Parts: sequence; structure tokens; C-alpha cells
Amino acid sequence: MVRTLSTPTRARAALGVILALLSPTTAASVQGQQLDPTADLMRRLTEAPGPSAFEEEVRRIVVAEFDALGADVAFDGLGSVHAELPGNGNGPRVMVTAHLDEVGLMVQHINADGFIRVKNLGGLLGHAYPDQRWTILGRNGPVLAFSGLPTTHVATAAQRNQVWDVADVFLDVGATSREEVEAMGIRPGDGIAPWSPFTVLPNGRYAAKGWDDRVGIAVMIAAARRIRAEGIDLPGNIVWVATTQEEIGLRGAQTAVDMARPDIGISIEAGVAADYPGIGPQQAQERLGGGPGIFLLDSSMIPNRKFRDFFFRVAEESGIPLQADVLTGYGEDGAEIQRFDTGRASVNMTVPARYLHAHSGIIQRSDFDHAVDLLIEVLRRLDSSTVSDLSSFDPR
Ligand SMILES: [Zn+2]
Repeated sequence: MVRTLSTPTRARAALGVILALLSPTTAASVQGQQLDPTADLMRRLTEAPGPSAFEEEVRRIVVAEFDALGADVAFDGLGSVHAELPGNGNGPRVMVTAHLDEVGLMVQHINADGFIRVKNLGGLLGHAYPDQRWTILGRNGPVLAFSGLPTTHVATAAQRNQVWDVADVFLDVGATSREEVEAMGIRPGDGIAPWSPFTVLPNGRYAAKGWDDRVGIAVMIAAARRIRAEGIDLPGNIVWVATTQEEIGLRGAQTAVDMARPDIGISIEAGVAADYPGIGPQQAQERLGGGPGIFLLDSSMIPNRKFRDFFFRVAEESGIPLQADVLTGYGEDGAEIQRFDTGRASVNMTVPARYLHAHSGIIQRSDFDHAVDLLIEVLRRLDSSTVSDLSSFDPR
């Protein structure tokens, strides 16, 4: 059985009061396994609470990472982060983007008995609501909360088969009154994130919340670190963008593209692994261990076909595995790049993940590493003539 809580965290959680739990695990090791700098980056990113419009903790990590690389960092008016590394090329402007936010909840109402009613921020399945731990981002700091549920000994037949609507959800912070909840610093409008510690599974796979899209943010930072460390010369003028409010309708990307003014763009996302019981190739086609993915269709865009095929060519030349995914019910920020100004070539590349928009998703490290490799190989090749060729529809 996998232990998921460190002893100090257990002790603090047992108090059931206001907690300093921004980071459920606190060291660069998990279950006695030393984390390398990339895994530790993933630990910090996934454990940071950051539902849509409440991304401060994630933004702080992203800014610190790009600052450490000597980047020029700027912000647009919705809070997306724009970073340019020193030595940036002066060729085509390439927007590489992933989103800061994760799905979560917002405090709607606190009842007289001290239970908290919520609205959702982003798409959670009803199955993911009850019997979970959450972080409420209150004004006095984060507060651990539990989503209650009927007790099995007295549940009715209907309750036993119920899939929860968000209107059924209530959070319990152990309080006995509205006043007690308010004294914890909790008010209507506060953001709420899933709470789940980063865990290394026995075979080396990683489990965490928020892979969508902290894994994309981690790919960007890992690629930027390598470009700086190895002094990789890129022909393009790369702007690394961490967008806000993707999960509630690609809102941050709409202003981010206006600021970035890209000639071409790459969105990096958590892909839909369809390699477990109850899901199959009719829903999605990625699997853990198959390498990064490229969306050929999603509900927000059909990617530029030349750019899409370019990824497959580069992957083959570089010996990097690459999977394709055709799916609906999934929108992503690449669509906002595609519709910027008069239109731009863009694609959505992914690291496959199981159980998106839930408390515990699973990824495989080799898929992540290959995604970083592929991104760098693509960026190496995006010079002016390549980008104008990929962007041209002129049949003459
Ligand atoms: Zn996403």
C-alpha cells in the first residue's frame, strides 16, 4: 500500500484547523525516494493550489523559475506570465504555452451550521466531488476541508447510487457555525483546490493532482532550463507563456496572445490516457509510456496540419516516440493562438495522464522527458522559412 502523507502532514491534518499546507510534502524526497530537480519541480507545481483565477502559488513558482534563468518576465492584465530567456533569437515569434490553473471550486455560501456550499471552477465529474480533501484559499491562509457524504450505515438506496451534482456538495472544516468558518478567514468567493500529495509509485510513475496542466508548465520550465544550461541556440524569438483561467473557457489565453503576438504557437497540455478499464480508443488513443501526444482534433480546434505533420517528422528524425489523439470534450489554449489576429499555425502537444480533473492522476516520467526533448527539437527547427512554409496556404 502506498503511503501518501508524511508524518508531519498527518499531524497537522489531524488538527482540522487552519493549516500551512501549501505544500503537502515538504522535502525533495517522497517516501524515502530522492527526487531529481525535475521531479521536485513537478512536486512543487502539482501540490500548489491554483484553481482558475486563484493561481498565485503556481505563478510564484513559475516566476521564480524563469527569474533563476535570467529571463525577462512580464504579466498581462489577466495574470498570465510571459517570459523571454536571455539570448533569445530574433526569428519568428514562437509562443510556447501551458496553463497555470487547475479545476476546483469556489465558496458560494456558508450555512448557519458551518457547512460550505460551492460552485465549480472548471469541469469536474460528479464522481470526483464527495469524500475528498480540499484546500480553501482563505484570507488568513489555506484551510483544509473535507467533502462530506452520506454514511453507509444509513444511506438510502437512492443515495447509494447517486452521482453528485455540484449543488449536492458541501465542505466541512470541522466548524459548528458560520461565525467559526468566517473566523478561519473563509468568505464567499474564495477559491478551493483539490488537496493531494505528489507520490512516486513503486514502478516510478508519478501520482498527483493537477497534472492538467502543471505537467505542461513543468515541460516548459524543464525545456527552458535545458536551453539555458546547454546554451542551445534557437532561431526563433520564443515567448514562454503560462496562462490563467484556461479551465473556465480559455480566458487567459485570449489576452495572452494579444500580448505575445506570436507568428506560430505550441500549447502543452495533459493528454488523455485511455489505457485503463472503462475507456478505450473510441474515446481517446494515448497511453502511458507511448511518448508525448499530438491532438489531431479536439473540441476547440483542428490544428494546422502542416505544423502537426512537422511534429511527426521531427519526432521520427530524432528517435522520439509520438502518439496521436483524436477526441472531443476537450478544449485547449492552442485554439486561441490559432485565432489570433488573421490566424496562426498552432498545435497542442501533450504528456499523457490518467484521470484528469480528479484528485489523483498518473503520468510516466519517460513521456515527460520525451516531451521536453521533442519541444526542444521542434524549436531548433522553427526558423523564418520553416514558419512561413508551415503557415502558407498558397497552392501556387
Ligand atoms: Zn488543460
